[in-house]
Amino acid sequence: MNDFKNIICIVVCLCCVVFSHAVSEEEHLPLGDIETLARIKLKIEVIRENDPEFKNNVYWKSAIDDIENFLSDGDKSLAKGEALFILARIQNQFFKINGDLKAVDKADGLYQQLFTEYSNHPKSDDALLYHGDLQRNHFKNEKKALKSFHRILTGYPSGNRVRLAKQRLGIPDSEYTGWKEVGKDGNKIAQRTKSSLVVVLDPGHGGAELGASGVDNHNEKDVVLSISKKLAILLKVEYGIEAILTRSGDSNMPLNERTEIANKSKADLFISIHANASKNSRAEGIETYYLDNTNDKSSLKLAKKENSVKGGMRTDLQFILSDLIQTAKLEDSITLAHSLQDSLISRLTQRYKGIKNLGVKKAPFYVLVGAHMPCALVEVAFIDHPKEGRRLLTEEYQSHVASSLALGVDKYFRSLGRK
Ligand SMILES: [Zn+2]
Repeated sequence: MNDFKNIICIVVCLCCVVFSHAVSEEEHLPLGDIETLARIKLKIEVIRENDPEFKNNVYWKSAIDDIENFLSDGDKSLAKGEALFILARIQNQFFKINGDLKAVDKADGLYQQLFTEYSNHPKSDDALLYHGDLQRNHFKNEKKALKSFHRILTGYPSGNRVRLAKQRLGIPDSEYTGWKEVGKDGNKIAQRTKSSLVVVLDPGHGGAELGASGVDNHNEKDVVLSISKKLAILLKVEYGIEAILTRSGDSNMPLNERTEIANKSKADLFISIHANASKNSRAEGIETYYLDNTNDKSSLKLAKKENSVKGGMRTDLQFILSDLIQTAKLEDSITLAHSLQDSLISRLTQRYKGIKNLGVKKAPFYVLVGAHMPCALVEVAFIDHPKEGRRLLTEEYQSHVASSLALGVDKYFRSLGRK
């Protein structure tokens, strides 16, 4: 016990040195979160030096109490997030070294709390990694583990945990290849298994075709590719639906070849993903289209814009639209468009203010012509709107758009009794 007294004495002295300047004027000035966390970290450092093997519960119990006290007011700050992470690591160590089963439950719960309640915290991806490891190695829940590792790739693609997440997923470090791209390699089409549902995702434009340009010169082609990749992963991981991308890099592809991929793959759905723009800088909102003729001027204008490809000649759309195959799929395409639009609106309005529902519309989009399966085109936001455009550039918003679309796809299949 003498050791413990010494440690506490050292801690108190150190704290006095560190904080003496802060409290010299007013003895009882409450410490801010950052100061409190610094004091806790200092104490832990001293304890760790004296008990690296986590043998003395009394020392550690004192540190745990301090953190729990610090967290007890329920406020959420960066310092609180870090404290939560430190607490999780201590519990994790207790389990690792002493095999303490209560500690492993606590550690796992704390990791989950961190990446759900503090999803923007710099330690969130670390929490996902450790949660995944516990699920895989201790709880033997491979599905949860995979979901956690995938979430690092979709939610924190530029974070420092990507390499380890890829390792855990058995993916080569060069690029994430959780999605399939068919491109010109017809062999890959055979990968489809009979029982699985397949969705072809088509990120609009690419290469020299920039699509709409938005705030800070960001281009539609990049944003929609990022959303499509996230969506591909989520469909596979969350719903067991295979996704094929018409492009996974910054390349262009003629519009008719995009649906050709879907036809050759015998895909169940084709979804083209775009971002809107308008001369009216106040235009904002989400809209989903199915393929049909229309007299609506603004829909025709949008279709004209999305249909225009440099150097490409468009044939008579109205004639192609009379194609019997498409007509037969019209009803399902309308159901799909509503499922995607409803899911986007209901999920995004829960998280963001002022999401505008522009509804489900019809228009002659060339990229949808010739698809032998139900298809839709989603305009996920106005990339040139000052507020909506900026939001569209964030990883967070793109992830929410992707998860909303994944849910919409799943709901569509369920509504048809196919899942
Ligand atoms: Zn577009």
